[in-house]
Amino acid sequence: MIPVIRPLLGPEEAEAAAQAISSGWIAQGPRVAEFEAAFAAATGTGHAVAVSSCTAALHLAMIVAGVGPGDEVVAPSMSFIATANAARYVGARVVFADVEPDTLNLTVETVAPLLTDRTRAVILVDQAGVPADLDAMRELCDPRGIAVIEDAACAAGSTYRGRPAGAGAALAAFSFHPRKLLTTGEGGMITTPDPDVAARLRRLREHGMNVSAAARHVEQRVVIERYDEVGYNYRMTDIQAAIGLVQLGRLDEIIERRRELAQRYQCLLSQISGLRTISDPSFGLTNFQSFWVALPADFPVARNDLLQMLADAGISSRRGIMAAHLEPAYANLVRDMQLPVTERLSASTLIIPLFHQLTAAEQNRVVDVISAASEKAAVLPDPAKLPA
Ligand SMILES: *Cc1c(COP(=O)(O)O)cnc(C)c1O
Repeated sequence: MIPVIRPLLGPEEAEAAAQAISSGWIAQGPRVAEFEAAFAAATGTGHAVAVSSCTAALHLAMIVAGVGPGDEVVAPSMSFIATANAARYVGARVVFADVEPDTLNLTVETVAPLLTDRTRAVILVDQAGVPADLDAMRELCDPRGIAVIEDAACAAGSTYRGRPAGAGAALAAFSFHPRKLLTTGEGGMITTPDPDVAARLRRLREHGMNVSAAARHVEQRVVIERYDEVGYNYRMTDIQAAIGLVQLGRLDEIIERRRELAQRYQCLLSQISGLRTISDPSFGLTNFQSFWVALPADFPVARNDLLQMLADAGISSRRGIMAAHLEPAYANLVRDMQLPVTERLSASTLIIPLFHQLTAAEQNRVVDVISAASEKAAVLPDPAKLPA
């Protein structure tokens, strides 16, 4: 079976995790601090605060952006559901905006008509690693006092106007789930250029404590901590950070390989009439976190049948990006919502295998199945079974 993704983990990650364990300090400590500094430097983001997941990062972003009950948060429905859930955690109302079909991202055109005087934040997702047009969104939102939070869960190492994704955001959230490029098993990072915001994020991820457990540990004198506000336990462990440090060192190599494989897919799949694939936007480069393919309306095989044909050929693939507003968790909040691009592309896209160790022969197998499906004549009804 060819998996849809396989994390790139080697003996270096295993050794780093083992060293963290032998050190006797396995909770958030020196390795988390080191990982944060290295991540901030690699992404040009100023300050990076490690957390237990990107979902936790998005939740904390909502809090520091001051989003609360009665506020509206504009977000794409076409995203992993954690994007929209973050607004729900703080009691805000999610207003779903449609996406632009080439990038699957929000644009100023889809967001502007939805802004009201209750809009407190926009969550701008870099879907599948494709950078969204952050500067344009900030030009729309900054003068209105609306926070733009970049959900860069998929976008570590993607670039936007020559800078790493996240570098231009007041708040950006990254994921280290194994489905993403860099992994720590579970984990996330929230970044900000503002040192005061970073300090508050550090408190919020650790129960609202004014001095971290790690800092108290190394103090010679007795330190009694104080709890300034209600916080969370969203800490990353030093075992995870040790793995993350090794992974971060491989980011350039991982991206180079993914872009090479993605170009090969783009070239092979361009032979199939009407098929569209993920590609770089005019203003940046994607890390190809997921390689999505959009089927044309006249494709002879339904999307879910194509997923089954791939599975029958020993190839694991996934439906395209989900649409949160179609899930039961959102059913009673979004009645009669019109998101035509989201609905069409969520139903007609699929994600095919792309990972560091994928071979050209395996890519050919994937393309062969899609190509055979494209040549299938539409099944005509049996005239004998038609009503007279
Ligand atoms: C994966 C993902 C998340 C959630 O990340 P976790 O680290 O699993 O919490 C959020 N938003 C987007 C767009 C994602 O792809």
